[in-house]
Amino acid sequence: MVSLQFQILAESPAGGRRGRLILPHQTVETPVFMPVGTQGTVKAVPQDALESLGAEIILGNTYHLYLRPGHEPIRRMGGLHKFMSWPRALLTDSGGFQVFSLSSLRKVTDDGVQFRSHLDGSSHFFTPEHSIDIQIALGADIVMAFDECTEYPADRARAEKSLRLTMAWAQRSRDHFRAHQHEVPWRNQIEQDQASHERGVPHPSSAWVGSHEAHTQSLFGIVQGGMHRDLRRQCAERLVEMDFDGYAIGGLSVGEPRDLTLEIISEVLPLLPKDKPRYVMGVGYPDEIEQYARLGVDMMDCVLPTRAARHALLFTSEGRLNIKNKQFAEDQSPPDPACQCPVCRRYSRAYLRHLVQANEPLSATLNSIHNLAYYLEIMQRVRKSLEPNPAPAN
Ligand SMILES: [Zn+2]
Repeated sequence: MVSLQFQILAESPAGGRRGRLILPHQTVETPVFMPVGTQGTVKAVPQDALESLGAEIILGNTYHLYLRPGHEPIRRMGGLHKFMSWPRALLTDSGGFQVFSLSSLRKVTDDGVQFRSHLDGSSHFFTPEHSIDIQIALGADIVMAFDECTEYPADRARAEKSLRLTMAWAQRSRDHFRAHQHEVPWRNQIEQDQASHERGVPHPSSAWVGSHEAHTQSLFGIVQGGMHRDLRRQCAERLVEMDFDGYAIGGLSVGEPRDLTLEIISEVLPLLPKDKPRYVMGVGYPDEIEQYARLGVDMMDCVLPTRAARHALLFTSEGRLNIKNKQFAEDQSPPDPACQCPVCRRYSRAYLRHLVQANEPLSATLNSIHNLAYYLEIMQRVRKSLEPNPAPAN
């Protein structure tokens, strides 16, 4: 079975890569920013708005979807794409991060993690095998290995212990994924569509298939190791031996200073195979995602643009705007004069401020659409700058 294909179209001297990631549901232009759709929704933003903004891949959270509505109902309904009516690419995390950050009464053993649901206190046990089973049922284009996100700060002994767990779980995630990946709910659909496509018959469900070159899910390994460079190195080398479809750098943006984030990314990137996609999880501010993309990070995700939007914070070409502020009460200029998004083309700062003041739900929607547009536009600009310059016209 063919998993993802990754093409590098151009490279900059600093290591930045302009690429193309071919997934079963979408061809994704990289470097890419992936909006976070925690519970099968990018909070406050409808799917058609995400499509219009040009989002090609979004995240879903395994922990949340497992607890509610449950991965089995989603499997029976054809997978997460179909359930949430999102025809483009999806990536699911392993659930590990939320188990460690949201649930209570955790007990970690070599086998897995026992935890209580943050919703109703019910008891659950996650193993790498279970995380992979859930992610296969959800049917994301990209599945993540089950890992332990090492907290910050973590001394050497603690980081080493955590890393041993992550590496053992990576191997088990990989083995279980390879044995069960054919169980993805949309596999037959993709094959039928491909057969119809080859016969030249337009298939009614062809809207669900962005590419016929990738037929199945892909699995990424996650490099951990805390802020210890040699542990990061050890983890990256071991994961590369296990041969994943792509590699993530996890355990960053967990409270460490920003120059340390950059140091770890710069340390790990050269250790990862050049021909596979590289994903830095959970970053960052607008200038960070640009900086990391220029160093050769192909994929990033972060809740920041949508979470900040719900707190009335807008990222703009003029800096951060707290749109709640009184100074905007009669400001009829667009939120960001340089932005071409549907919100900036239509509404004023005064109106967005009023929506926040009046506690109107449209506030979260409009602020989120603008912030996502701003993030996606940064990546578009970076992609363009990484492309070879066209020959000058005479
Ligand atoms: Zn805008």
